[in-house]
Amino acid sequence: MARIGFVGLGNMGGGMALNLVKAGHDVFAFDLSEAAAAKAREGGCKIAASAGEAGTDVDAIVTMLPAGKHVASVYAEQIFPAAKPGTLLLDCSTIDVATARAVAADAVAKGFEMVDAPVSGGIAAANNGALTFMVGGTDEAFARAEPILGKMGKAVIHAGDAGAGQAAKICNNMILGSQMIATCEALALALRLGLDPQKFYDIASKASGQSWSLTSYCPLPGVGPQSPADRGYEGGFASALMLKDLKLAMGAAQSVDASVPMGAAAEALFQAFVNSGHAATDFSGIIGMLNGELPVAH
Ligand code: NAD
Repeated sequence: MARIGFVGLGNMGGGMALNLVKAGHDVFAFDLSEAAAAKAREGGCKIAASAGEAGTDVDAIVTMLPAGKHVASVYAEQIFPAAKPGTLLLDCSTIDVATARAVAADAVAKGFEMVDAPVSGGIAAANNGALTFMVGGTDEAFARAEPILGKMGKAVIHAGDAGAGQAAKICNNMILGSQMIATCEALALALRLGLDPQKFYDIASKASGQSWSLTSYCPLPGVGPQSPADRGYEGGFASALMLKDLKLAMGAAQSVDASVPMGAAAEALFQAFVNSGHAATDFSGIIGMLNGELPVAH
């Protein structure tokens, strides 16, 4: 079993670190939050005094941090100076492609192997070891990363070279954000046209309007399988995180001159929803703004 450093024990990282412990690994963990560190200690992690200490004398280091600036500074200031050459570095945070590539290039120049391995799946999937990892890095780095990621997820897919995992993640979530809005608009229109929501669901789910947003995550309560709509749009995937991913997609599109008008519209609508006090609301709750039940903030 391996010795693994783990930095960032928040909503996602907390459960992921415990799954590595359950798999028999020795996990040396660190978080700036004492409460998060205490929870990890209860679950069997050994708590380090700093990110650097968590990354000393280990085979691999996993990071699960909020954004690119945290990842860049934790690697530059803590992990690179402390880790042994050859240590495998796995960043599972969702960050911009440019920072992911820059940190990976720096890591390779310093004698490390690194993958970007962002995840699809929320807090429940992190706790249950059911995440999907999209991995960017060399074949050698992927071969070393796969058995570790496999203890935290149900699927580990090699997307390509450094940064490819982040690119796949934001493109996937740009589809999801746009698709959810299209689904919400259509459901809101169907209701105004007097259609029975269940009847419309039965038809669209077997017709060309079918999508994951409709049939796995229906934004209307009482229709389709259980989803956050049935729990007052609590839990699930927070609108602030969807907005974060759409902003990353917009930045990436700009960097390569890609035209993304639907993605841009989705970003503007989620920005308005978040501005109206719904940062923590599940992203399918945007149906309330689109059907006129919630005010739109600008
Ligand atoms: P979170 O805010 O709950 O956790 C982040 C943790 O990092 C916090 O505990 C914070 O104290 C810690 N941290 C910040 N800076 C640090 C530093 N310098 N050193 C050590 N610890 C530090 O966030 P989360 O929901 O766990 O998300 C983590 C990442 O996963 C984000 O990039 C997010 O976009 C991505 N993600 C989240 C979800 C989700 O549903 N929450 C789903 C998919 C991907």
